[in-house]
Amino acid sequence: MSNRLPESLSAIQINALRNSTPQLWLNPELGCPEASPEKPDVQEIHIAEARLQRFAPLLATLFPELNESKGIIESQLLPVRSLASTINPLGGHTFIKADHALPVAGSIKARGGIHEVLCFAEQLALENNILSSIDDDYSKLLESPAQQLFNRYEIAVGSTGNLGLSIGIIGAALGFRATVHMSVDAKAWKKARLRKRGVTVIEHNADYGAAVAAGRTQAETDPFSYFVDDENSPRLFMGYAVAALRLQQQLDNAGIRVDNDHPLFVYLPAGVGGAPGGITFGLKALFGNAVHCFFAEPVQAPCMLLGMAGKAGSPPVPVYNAGLHIDTDADGLAVGTAAQWVCDAVRDQLAGVYTETDDRLYGHLAALHEKENIQVEPSAAIGCSGPGMLNTTVGRQFLETHQLVTKLPHATHLIWTTGGSFVPDSEYKRYIQKSIEKSNPKVS
Ligand SMILES: *Cc1c(COP(=O)(O)O)cnc(C)c1O
Repeated sequence: MSNRLPESLSAIQINALRNSTPQLWLNPELGCPEASPEKPDVQEIHIAEARLQRFAPLLATLFPELNESKGIIESQLLPVRSLASTINPLGGHTFIKADHALPVAGSIKARGGIHEVLCFAEQLALENNILSSIDDDYSKLLESPAQQLFNRYEIAVGSTGNLGLSIGIIGAALGFRATVHMSVDAKAWKKARLRKRGVTVIEHNADYGAAVAAGRTQAETDPFSYFVDDENSPRLFMGYAVAALRLQQQLDNAGIRVDNDHPLFVYLPAGVGGAPGGITFGLKALFGNAVHCFFAEPVQAPCMLLGMAGKAGSPPVPVYNAGLHIDTDADGLAVGTAAQWVCDAVRDQLAGVYTETDDRLYGHLAALHEKENIQVEPSAAIGCSGPGMLNTTVGRQFLETHQLVTKLPHATHLIWTTGGSFVPDSEYKRYIQKSIEKSNPKVS
Protein backbone atom coordinates (compact mmCIF):
# COMPACT_ATOMS: atom_id res chain seq x y z
CA MET A 1 0.00 0.00 0.00
CA SER A 2 1.29 3.42 -0.91
CA ASN A 3 1.06 6.30 1.52
CA ARG A 4 -0.35 8.65 -1.05
CA LEU A 5 -2.49 11.59 0.00
CA PRO A 6 -5.03 13.30 -2.29
CA GLU A 7 -3.21 15.28 -5.01
CA SER A 8 -5.50 18.27 -4.58
CA LEU A 9 -4.04 19.05 -1.13
CA SER A 10 -1.42 21.79 -0.83
CA ALA A 11 1.85 21.39 1.06
CA ILE A 12 0.47 23.63 3.82
CA GLN A 13 -2.64 21.48 4.16
CA ILE A 14 -0.60 18.27 4.22
CA ASN A 15 1.71 19.68 6.88
CA ALA A 16 -1.24 20.64 9.06
CA LEU A 17 -2.64 17.12 8.65
CA ARG A 18 0.65 15.43 9.54
CA ASN A 19 1.32 17.75 12.49
CA SER A 20 -2.20 17.48 13.92
CA THR A 21 -2.60 21.23 13.55
CA PRO A 22 -6.20 22.47 13.29
CA GLN A 23 -7.14 23.77 9.86
CA LEU A 24 -10.04 24.75 7.67
CA TRP A 25 -10.13 23.02 4.29
CA LEU A 26 -12.40 24.56 1.65
CA ASN A 27 -14.06 22.26 -0.86
CA PRO A 28 -12.93 23.24 -4.38
CA GLU A 29 -15.82 21.24 -5.86
CA LEU A 30 -18.55 23.12 -4.02
CA GLY A 31 -21.24 24.03 -6.54
CA CYS A 32 -19.91 21.74 -9.31
CA PRO A 33 -22.75 19.28 -10.07
CA GLU A 34 -20.43 17.14 -12.20
CA ALA A 35 -18.47 16.37 -9.01
CA SER A 36 -21.44 14.35 -7.78
CA PRO A 37 -22.71 12.34 -10.75
CA GLU A 38 -24.82 9.83 -8.81
CA LYS A 39 -26.89 11.98 -6.49
CA PRO A 40 -29.40 10.32 -4.20
CA ASP A 41 -33.03 11.20 -4.89
CA VAL A 42 -34.34 14.13 -2.81
CA GLN A 43 -37.76 12.46 -2.79
CA GLU A 44 -36.26 9.78 -0.53
CA ILE A 45 -36.13 12.32 2.31
CA HIS A 46 -39.91 12.69 2.23
CA ILE A 47 -40.35 8.92 2.00
CA ALA A 48 -38.22 8.53 5.14
CA GLU A 49 -40.19 11.25 6.95
CA ALA A 50 -43.48 9.53 6.04
CA ARG A 51 -42.11 6.22 7.38
CA LEU A 52 -41.16 7.86 10.68
CA GLN A 53 -44.70 9.29 10.87
CA ARG A 54 -46.22 5.82 10.27
CA PHE A 55 -44.17 4.34 13.07
CA ALA A 56 -44.71 7.23 15.49
CA PRO A 57 -47.67 5.73 17.41
CA LEU A 58 -45.76 2.46 17.82
CA LEU A 59 -42.64 4.27 19.04
CA ALA A 60 -44.73 6.23 21.55
CA THR A 61 -45.95 2.87 22.92
CA LEU A 62 -42.45 1.41 23.11
CA PHE A 63 -40.77 4.51 24.58
CA PRO A 64 -42.83 6.47 27.16
CA GLU A 65 -40.37 9.37 26.81
CA LEU A 66 -41.92 9.94 23.35
CA ASN A 67 -45.46 10.37 24.68
CA GLU A 68 -45.37 14.11 24.54
CA SER A 69 -44.06 14.26 20.97
CA LYS A 70 -46.49 11.49 19.94
CA GLY A 71 -43.67 9.21 18.86
CA ILE A 72 -41.60 11.72 16.90
CA ILE A 73 -37.91 11.65 17.81
CA GLU A 74 -36.72 15.25 17.61
CA SER A 75 -34.39 17.62 19.45
CA GLN A 76 -34.75 21.27 20.34
CA LEU A 77 -33.32 24.29 18.57
CA LEU A 78 -31.76 26.37 21.35
CA PRO A 79 -30.66 30.02 21.16
CA VAL A 80 -27.30 30.32 22.97
CA ARG A 81 -26.50 33.96 23.70
CA SER A 82 -24.09 33.37 26.54
CA LEU A 83 -22.07 30.73 24.69
CA ALA A 84 -22.11 32.87 21.55
CA SER A 85 -20.04 35.55 23.27
CA THR A 86 -17.13 33.10 23.61
CA ILE A 87 -17.34 31.06 20.42
CA ASN A 88 -18.81 33.32 17.76
CA PRO A 89 -16.68 36.29 16.69
CA LEU A 90 -18.79 36.80 13.55
CA GLY A 91 -22.03 38.07 15.10
CA GLY A 92 -25.52 37.23 13.86
CA HIS A 93 -27.64 34.59 15.59
CA THR A 94 -26.18 31.51 17.26
CA PHE A 95 -28.18 28.37 17.92
CA ILE A 96 -27.54 24.83 19.07
CA LYS A 97 -29.33 21.94 17.43
CA ALA A 98 -29.55 19.76 20.52
CA ASP A 99 -29.12 16.22 19.19
CA HIS A 100 -27.01 15.48 22.28
CA ALA A 101 -30.41 15.11 23.95
CA LEU A 102 -32.24 13.19 21.24
CA PRO A 103 -34.61 10.82 23.03
CA VAL A 104 -34.30 7.02 22.91
CA ALA A 105 -30.63 6.82 21.85
CA GLY A 106 -29.03 9.94 23.39
CA SER A 107 -27.21 10.89 20.18
CA ILE A 108 -27.64 11.87 16.56
CA LYS A 109 -27.65 8.12 15.75
CA ALA A 110 -31.29 8.03 16.85
CA ARG A 111 -32.11 9.58 13.48
CA GLY A 112 -30.39 7.25 11.01
CA GLY A 113 -30.10 4.11 13.11
CA ILE A 114 -33.71 3.94 14.14
CA HIS A 115 -34.90 4.76 10.63
CA GLU A 116 -32.91 1.88 9.16
CA VAL A 117 -34.23 -0.67 11.67
CA LEU A 118 -37.79 0.56 11.01
CA CYS A 119 -37.20 0.09 7.25
CA PHE A 120 -36.17 -3.50 7.84
CA ALA A 121 -39.02 -4.27 10.26
CA GLU A 122 -41.58 -2.75 7.88
CA GLN A 123 -40.21 -4.68 4.90
CA LEU A 124 -40.25 -8.00 6.81
CA ALA A 125 -43.79 -7.40 8.07
CA LEU A 126 -45.09 -6.55 4.59
CA GLU A 127 -43.36 -9.53 2.94
CA ASN A 128 -44.79 -11.89 5.56
CA ASN A 129 -48.33 -10.42 5.37
CA ILE A 130 -48.26 -9.24 8.94
CA LEU A 131 -49.00 -5.79 7.59
CA SER A 132 -51.35 -5.75 4.60
CA SER A 133 -50.05 -2.36 3.42
CA ILE A 134 -48.31 0.71 4.77
CA ASP A 135 -51.74 2.01 5.78
CA ASP A 136 -52.29 -0.93 8.14
CA ASP A 137 -52.24 -0.70 11.95
CA TYR A 138 -48.59 -0.83 12.98
CA SER A 139 -49.43 -1.89 16.56
CA LYS A 140 -49.70 -5.39 15.01
CA LEU A 141 -45.90 -5.42 15.05
CA LEU A 142 -45.97 -5.88 18.81
CA GLU A 143 -48.31 -8.90 18.66
CA SER A 144 -47.06 -12.43 18.75
CA PRO A 145 -46.94 -13.37 15.02
CA ALA A 146 -44.74 -10.35 14.31
CA GLN A 147 -42.69 -10.88 17.43
CA GLN A 148 -42.04 -14.53 16.53
CA LEU A 149 -40.94 -13.44 13.08
CA PHE A 150 -38.67 -10.66 14.33
CA ASN A 151 -37.10 -12.92 16.93
CA ARG A 152 -35.82 -15.20 14.15
CA TYR A 153 -33.75 -12.31 12.83
CA GLU A 154 -30.58 -10.73 14.08
CA ILE A 155 -29.74 -7.09 13.51
CA ALA A 156 -25.99 -6.53 13.52
CA VAL A 157 -23.84 -3.41 13.33
CA GLY A 158 -20.23 -2.22 13.71
CA SER A 159 -19.80 0.86 15.85
CA THR A 160 -17.56 3.14 17.91
CA GLY A 161 -20.42 3.20 20.42
CA ASN A 162 -23.35 5.44 19.59
CA LEU A 163 -24.62 3.68 16.47
CA GLY A 164 -24.47 0.44 18.46
CA LEU A 165 -26.55 2.05 21.23
CA SER A 166 -29.15 3.28 18.76
CA ILE A 167 -29.46 0.01 16.80
CA GLY A 168 -29.28 -2.14 19.93
CA ILE A 169 -32.02 -0.20 21.71
CA ILE A 170 -34.51 -0.07 18.84
CA GLY A 171 -33.66 -3.58 17.61
CA ALA A 172 -34.23 -5.13 21.04
CA ALA A 173 -37.38 -3.04 21.61
CA LEU A 174 -38.93 -4.38 18.39
CA GLY A 175 -38.09 -7.97 19.35
CA PHE A 176 -35.06 -8.60 17.14
CA ARG A 177 -31.88 -10.20 18.37
CA ALA A 178 -29.20 -7.51 18.29
CA THR A 179 -25.43 -7.86 17.95
CA VAL A 180 -23.03 -4.92 18.11
CA HIS A 181 -19.41 -5.17 16.98
CA MET A 182 -17.55 -2.53 18.97
CA SER A 183 -14.27 -0.91 17.93
CA VAL A 184 -11.43 -0.44 20.41
CA ASP A 185 -12.46 3.22 20.97
CA ALA A 186 -15.91 2.32 22.34
CA LYS A 187 -16.42 3.45 25.93
CA ALA A 188 -16.99 0.75 28.59
CA TRP A 189 -20.25 2.34 29.76
CA LYS A 190 -21.72 2.16 26.26
CA LYS A 191 -21.01 -1.59 26.11
CA ALA A 192 -22.41 -2.14 29.63
CA ARG A 193 -25.58 -0.23 28.81
CA LEU A 194 -26.22 -2.43 25.78
CA ARG A 195 -25.53 -5.71 27.57
CA LYS A 196 -28.04 -4.70 30.22
CA ARG A 197 -30.66 -4.52 27.48
CA GLY A 198 -29.87 -8.03 26.26
CA VAL A 199 -27.77 -6.91 23.29
CA THR A 200 -24.78 -9.11 22.35
CA VAL A 201 -21.63 -6.98 22.36
CA ILE A 202 -18.56 -8.31 20.53
CA GLU A 203 -15.39 -6.39 21.34
CA HIS A 204 -12.78 -5.94 18.63
CA ASN A 205 -9.28 -4.85 19.46
CA ALA A 206 -9.22 -2.85 16.24
CA ASP A 207 -10.47 0.38 14.71
CA TYR A 208 -13.95 1.20 13.58
CA GLY A 209 -13.40 0.08 9.97
CA ALA A 210 -12.20 -3.32 11.16
CA ALA A 211 -15.19 -3.71 13.52
CA VAL A 212 -17.56 -2.93 10.65
CA ALA A 213 -15.76 -5.37 8.35
CA ALA A 214 -15.91 -8.14 10.98
CA GLY A 215 -19.61 -7.58 11.54
CA ARG A 216 -20.32 -7.47 7.82
CA THR A 217 -18.48 -10.75 7.20
CA GLN A 218 -20.24 -12.52 10.06
CA ALA A 219 -23.68 -11.32 8.93
CA GLU A 220 -23.07 -12.37 5.32
CA THR A 221 -22.96 -16.05 6.29
CA ASP A 222 -26.34 -15.90 8.08
CA PRO A 223 -29.50 -15.35 6.01
CA PHE A 224 -31.34 -14.34 9.19
CA SER A 225 -28.88 -11.57 9.96
CA TYR A 226 -29.42 -8.01 8.73
CA PHE A 227 -26.30 -5.87 8.82
CA VAL A 228 -26.58 -2.10 9.21
CA ASP A 229 -23.61 -1.02 7.12
CA ASP A 230 -22.54 2.42 8.32
CA GLU A 231 -20.05 2.67 5.45
CA ASN A 232 -22.68 2.17 2.78
CA SER A 233 -26.23 2.83 3.86
CA PRO A 234 -28.76 5.00 2.03
CA ARG A 235 -31.29 4.09 4.75
CA LEU A 236 -29.17 5.62 7.49
CA PHE A 237 -28.42 8.62 5.30
CA MET A 238 -32.07 9.40 4.58
CA GLY A 239 -33.00 9.00 8.24
CA TYR A 240 -30.43 11.69 9.02
CA ALA A 241 -31.62 13.87 6.13
CA VAL A 242 -35.10 14.13 7.68
CA ALA A 243 -33.49 16.40 10.31
CA ALA A 244 -33.43 19.14 7.66
CA LEU A 245 -37.22 19.14 7.29
CA ARG A 246 -37.63 19.35 11.04
CA LEU A 247 -35.03 22.11 11.35
CA GLN A 248 -36.72 24.18 8.65
CA GLN A 249 -39.91 24.15 10.73
CA GLN A 250 -38.05 25.03 13.92
CA LEU A 251 -36.21 27.94 12.32
CA ASP A 252 -39.51 29.19 10.99
CA ASN A 253 -41.09 28.94 14.44
CA ALA A 254 -38.15 30.85 15.90
CA GLY A 255 -38.66 33.63 13.35
CA ILE A 256 -35.29 32.94 11.69
CA ARG A 257 -35.20 33.60 7.97
CA VAL A 258 -32.88 31.66 5.70
CA ASP A 259 -32.37 33.06 2.20
CA ASN A 260 -29.58 34.61 0.16
CA ASP A 261 -29.51 37.70 2.39
CA HIS A 262 -29.83 35.64 5.58
CA PRO A 263 -27.29 32.84 5.26
CA LEU A 264 -27.26 29.79 7.49
CA PHE A 265 -23.92 28.29 8.57
CA VAL A 266 -24.07 24.75 9.96
CA TYR A 267 -21.25 22.99 11.81
CA LEU A 268 -21.55 19.20 11.85
CA PRO A 269 -19.35 16.69 13.73
CA ALA A 270 -18.25 14.02 11.24
CA GLY A 271 -17.18 10.41 11.69
CA VAL A 272 -17.71 8.11 8.72
CA GLY A 273 -19.90 10.84 7.19
CA GLY A 274 -23.42 9.43 7.12
CA ALA A 275 -24.97 11.70 9.73
CA PRO A 276 -23.45 15.02 8.65
CA GLY A 277 -23.72 13.97 4.99
CA GLY A 278 -27.41 13.16 5.24
CA ILE A 279 -28.12 16.42 7.04
CA THR A 280 -26.14 18.39 4.47
CA PHE A 281 -28.03 16.68 1.64
CA GLY A 282 -31.33 17.54 3.30
CA LEU A 283 -30.40 21.15 4.06
CA LYS A 284 -29.11 21.77 0.54
CA ALA A 285 -32.37 20.39 -0.89
CA LEU A 286 -34.32 22.89 1.21
CA PHE A 287 -32.11 25.97 1.34
CA GLY A 288 -29.80 25.66 -1.69
CA ASN A 289 -27.05 28.29 -1.77
CA ALA A 290 -28.36 30.00 1.37
CA VAL A 291 -26.93 27.25 3.58
CA HIS A 292 -23.21 26.60 4.12
CA CYS A 293 -22.39 23.23 5.70
CA PHE A 294 -19.04 22.47 7.34
CA PHE A 295 -17.93 19.14 8.74
CA ALA A 296 -15.79 19.03 11.89
CA GLU A 297 -13.26 16.33 12.80
CA PRO A 298 -10.56 15.66 15.41
CA VAL A 299 -7.06 16.47 14.13
CA GLN A 300 -6.28 12.76 14.64
CA ALA A 301 -9.20 11.50 12.53
CA PRO A 302 -9.73 13.80 9.52
CA CYS A 303 -11.15 11.02 7.35
CA MET A 304 -13.85 13.15 5.69
CA LEU A 305 -11.32 15.85 4.85
CA LEU A 306 -9.21 13.21 3.09
CA GLY A 307 -12.27 11.65 1.48
CA MET A 308 -13.67 14.92 0.18
CA ALA A 309 -10.25 16.05 -1.08
CA GLY A 310 -10.08 12.87 -3.16
CA LYS A 311 -11.69 12.15 -6.50
CA ALA A 312 -15.29 11.14 -7.14
CA GLY A 313 -15.65 7.38 -7.52
CA SER A 314 -12.32 6.57 -5.92
CA PRO A 315 -11.80 5.03 -2.45
CA PRO A 316 -11.16 7.60 0.32
CA VAL A 317 -7.61 7.74 1.65
CA PRO A 318 -7.29 6.50 5.28
CA VAL A 319 -5.93 8.88 7.94
CA TYR A 320 -3.05 6.44 8.56
CA ASN A 321 -1.58 7.66 5.26
CA ALA A 322 -0.98 11.02 6.97
CA GLY A 323 0.82 9.28 9.84
CA LEU A 324 -2.15 9.68 12.19
CA HIS A 325 -3.38 7.14 14.75
CA ILE A 326 -6.92 8.22 15.65
CA ASP A 327 -5.60 9.18 19.06
CA THR A 328 -8.66 11.11 20.26
CA ASP A 329 -11.21 11.06 23.08
CA ALA A 330 -13.92 11.97 20.58
CA ASP A 331 -15.06 8.36 20.19
CA GLY A 332 -18.07 9.27 18.03
CA LEU A 333 -15.69 10.70 15.43
CA ALA A 334 -12.87 8.15 15.78
CA VAL A 335 -13.01 6.87 12.21
CA GLY A 336 -10.01 6.17 9.98
CA THR A 337 -11.63 6.04 6.55
CA ALA A 338 -14.65 7.96 5.26
CA ALA A 339 -17.63 6.34 3.54
CA GLN A 340 -16.99 6.73 -0.19
CA TRP A 341 -20.70 6.71 -0.92
CA VAL A 342 -21.27 9.73 1.32
CA CYS A 343 -18.30 11.67 -0.07
CA ASP A 344 -19.66 11.21 -3.57
CA ALA A 345 -23.20 12.18 -2.52
CA VAL A 346 -22.22 15.59 -1.07
CA ARG A 347 -19.09 16.38 -3.11
CA ASP A 348 -20.74 19.40 -4.74
CA GLN A 349 -22.61 20.52 -1.60
CA LEU A 350 -20.16 20.61 1.28
CA ALA A 351 -18.53 24.00 1.94
CA GLY A 352 -15.54 22.60 3.81
CA VAL A 353 -14.10 20.55 6.64
CA TYR A 354 -12.20 21.78 9.69
CA THR A 355 -10.14 19.89 12.21
CA GLU A 356 -9.76 20.57 15.92
CA THR A 357 -7.63 19.36 18.83
CA ASP A 358 -8.98 17.37 21.77
CA ASP A 359 -7.82 20.16 24.11
CA ARG A 360 -10.14 22.63 22.39
CA LEU A 361 -12.98 20.08 22.49
CA TYR A 362 -12.62 19.87 26.26
CA GLY A 363 -12.65 23.68 26.45
CA HIS A 364 -15.92 23.77 24.49
CA LEU A 365 -17.36 20.95 26.59
CA ALA A 366 -16.73 23.00 29.74
CA ALA A 367 -18.10 26.21 28.16
CA LEU A 368 -21.30 24.44 27.13
CA HIS A 369 -21.66 23.27 30.71
CA GLU A 370 -20.89 26.59 32.39
CA LYS A 371 -22.68 28.95 30.05
CA GLU A 372 -25.66 26.96 28.85
CA ASN A 373 -25.94 24.05 31.29
CA ILE A 374 -25.64 21.66 28.34
CA GLN A 375 -23.95 18.30 28.85
CA VAL A 376 -22.22 16.78 25.83
CA GLU A 377 -19.59 14.16 25.12
CA PRO A 378 -16.27 15.35 23.63
CA SER A 379 -17.27 14.48 20.02
CA ALA A 380 -20.36 16.63 20.29
CA ALA A 381 -18.50 19.80 21.32
CA ILE A 382 -16.50 20.15 18.09
CA GLY A 383 -19.15 22.25 16.31
CA CYS A 384 -18.37 25.11 18.71
CA SER A 385 -15.16 25.82 16.79
CA GLY A 386 -17.08 26.56 13.60
CA PRO A 387 -17.64 30.33 13.75
CA GLY A 388 -14.05 30.85 14.93
CA MET A 389 -12.77 28.79 12.00
CA LEU A 390 -14.62 31.09 9.60
CA ASN A 391 -12.82 34.01 11.20
CA THR A 392 -9.37 32.67 10.21
CA THR A 393 -7.55 33.76 7.06
CA VAL A 394 -8.92 30.78 5.14
CA GLY A 395 -12.39 31.30 6.61
CA ARG A 396 -12.42 34.97 5.62
CA GLN A 397 -11.42 33.90 2.13
CA PHE A 398 -14.54 31.72 1.99
CA LEU A 399 -16.75 34.56 3.24
CA GLU A 400 -15.33 36.95 0.65
CA THR A 401 -15.54 34.53 -2.28
CA HIS A 402 -19.20 33.87 -1.55
CA GLN A 403 -19.99 37.54 -0.84
CA LEU A 404 -21.04 36.79 2.71
CA VAL A 405 -19.12 39.43 4.66
CA THR A 406 -21.81 42.13 4.54
CA LYS A 407 -24.49 39.54 5.35
CA LEU A 408 -22.89 38.38 8.59
CA PRO A 409 -25.09 40.56 10.86
CA HIS A 410 -28.17 38.75 9.45
CA ALA A 411 -26.59 35.31 9.43
CA THR A 412 -27.41 32.33 11.64
CA HIS A 413 -24.74 29.95 12.97
CA LEU A 414 -25.92 26.51 13.98
CA ILE A 415 -23.76 24.33 16.21
CA TRP A 416 -24.96 20.73 15.95
CA THR A 417 -24.31 18.97 19.28
CA THR A 418 -24.53 15.25 18.61
CA GLY A 419 -24.29 13.16 21.77
CA GLY A 420 -24.05 13.21 25.53
CA SER A 421 -27.30 12.84 27.42
CA PHE A 422 -26.58 9.17 28.19
CA VAL A 423 -23.07 9.83 29.56
CA PRO A 424 -23.02 8.59 33.19
CA ASP A 425 -22.46 11.32 35.80
CA SER A 426 -19.17 9.81 36.95
CA GLU A 427 -17.87 9.84 33.36
CA TYR A 428 -19.07 13.39 32.78
CA LYS A 429 -17.29 14.55 35.94
CA ARG A 430 -14.09 13.09 34.50
CA TYR A 431 -14.61 15.11 31.32
CA ILE A 432 -15.03 18.31 33.33
CA GLN A 433 -11.95 17.44 35.41
CA LYS A 434 -9.98 16.90 32.22
CA SER A 435 -11.11 20.24 30.81
CA ILE A 436 -9.90 21.98 34.00
CA GLU A 437 -6.50 20.24 33.80
CA LYS A 438 -6.12 21.15 30.16
CA SER A 439 -6.97 24.80 30.71
CA ASN A 440 -4.54 25.06 33.67
CA PRO A 441 -1.47 23.10 32.62
CA LYS A 442 0.62 22.28 35.70
CA VAL A 443 3.92 24.16 35.93
CA SER A 444 6.69 21.76 36.89
C1 LIG B 1 -21.67 9.09 14.92
C2 LIG B 1 -21.49 10.40 15.52
C3 LIG B 1 -21.20 11.52 14.73
C4 LIG B 1 -20.93 11.49 13.25
O1 LIG B 1 -21.72 10.64 12.47
P1 LIG B 1 -21.08 9.83 11.24
O2 LIG B 1 -22.25 9.28 10.54
O3 LIG B 1 -20.18 8.78 11.81
O4 LIG B 1 -20.30 10.82 10.44
C5 LIG B 1 -21.06 12.70 15.39
N1 LIG B 1 -21.19 12.82 16.72
C6 LIG B 1 -21.47 11.76 17.50
C7 LIG B 1 -21.59 11.95 18.98
C8 LIG B 1 -21.64 10.52 16.92
O5 LIG B 1 -21.92 9.48 17.70
